[in-house]
Amino acid sequence: MAGDNPEAQYIAGGTNLIDLMKRGVTSPAKLIDINHLPLRKIEHRNDRVRIGALALNSDVAEHRLIQTRQPLLAQALLAGASGQLRNMATVGGNLLQRTRCSYFYDLALPCNKRKPGSGCGAEEGINRTHAIFFAGNGFGGIEKSSCLAVHPSDMCVALTALETTVVVNGPDGERRVMMKDFHRLTTQQPELDTNLRPGELITAIEVEDNAFARHSHYLKVRDRASYAFALVSVAAALQIDGGKIWDARMALGGVAHKPWRYWAVDLMLRGQAPSEKLFREVAEHEMKSAKATEQNAFKIRLTSNAIVAALKLAAGIS
Ligand SMILES: Cc1cc2nc3c(=O)[nH]c(=O)nc-3n(C[C@H](O)[C@H](O)[C@H](O)COP(=O)(O)OP(=O)(O)OC[C@H]3O[C@@H](n4cnc5c(N)ncnc54)[C@H](O)[C@@H]3O)c2cc1C
Repeated sequence: MAGDNPEAQYIAGGTNLIDLMKRGVTSPAKLIDINHLPLRKIEHRNDRVRIGALALNSDVAEHRLIQTRQPLLAQALLAGASGQLRNMATVGGNLLQRTRCSYFYDLALPCNKRKPGSGCGAEEGINRTHAIFFAGNGFGGIEKSSCLAVHPSDMCVALTALETTVVVNGPDGERRVMMKDFHRLTTQQPELDTNLRPGELITAIEVEDNAFARHSHYLKVRDRASYAFALVSVAAALQIDGGKIWDARMALGGVAHKPWRYWAVDLMLRGQAPSEKLFREVAEHEMKSAKATEQNAFKIRLTSNAIVAALKLAAGIS
């Protein structure tokens, strides 16, 4: 286990880690290949779908259990990367993939995430794709972040909306972490993306049964139609019965240092009949706490429109 050596890292599909090593962003003293571990199973048990950490992104997206019970997750996975990459990438690696901020990848430029204390190149540099939500939102104020990078994963946005549990195993045994607590915002220590402890191995994720399968939608907005990370994405899940919404969950991608959970959405939609007017109010409510950098003010309108579009598609209204 990597716990014995703080400089060691696990390698699964290698689609992110090898890139980072080639560029010199990370140089683990030891690589531990985990591909032989029996962690590829996708099964339904005890009112939840359990997906092994080594299940491939393509196998998860194509699996009958996921397509029928958790289609939001299948949609999000299929919106990411390319067929070839999804055939290599694993669930555990996807959860831990690192930001695509260009300052993080360029060793000649400052980056608090790569080299703590060196500064954030994006703050006064190129920040068109960067964050609009920061630590402190939802608690009355917005604190200035020491890192403007956004979390890159599509899968994690759906998992956050679906309130997934991440199962990890480490030197202190097994523990379960809710998605909302798995990734971190950047008030302190932007070099840490997650709350995973040294040496811990992700073994599985668990998605509880829910009533969202008929009314969910993952919408990804990007600069190119394929093979590009999200400028903004929305995972919207609704439970609609008798013409009214009885439960609602939403998470946003491409807007913060972690998948951004829109907590008030349930309160605002519960008991209401779906309509574009209502969805516009819901979208604009959350955007009040967004904060643009010099180049990304367009993302505020874009996110608002994406929320409305995703909710309409989930609700099946035109
Ligand atoms: C060109 C390109 C385009 C892409 N486009 C998208 C996109 O549009 N959307 C998207 O969401 N993603 C995209 N990706 C990212 C891709 O989804 C990730 O690279 C992939 O999911 C990582 O999985 P992996 O198994 O290859 O991880 P690895 O590269 O093997 O590992 C990544 C990290 O996770 C750690 N790790 C892996 N498994 C475990 C485990 N079980 N427990 C603990 N630690 C573990 C490793 O130590 C490493 O730090 C893209 C990647 C590329 C190269």
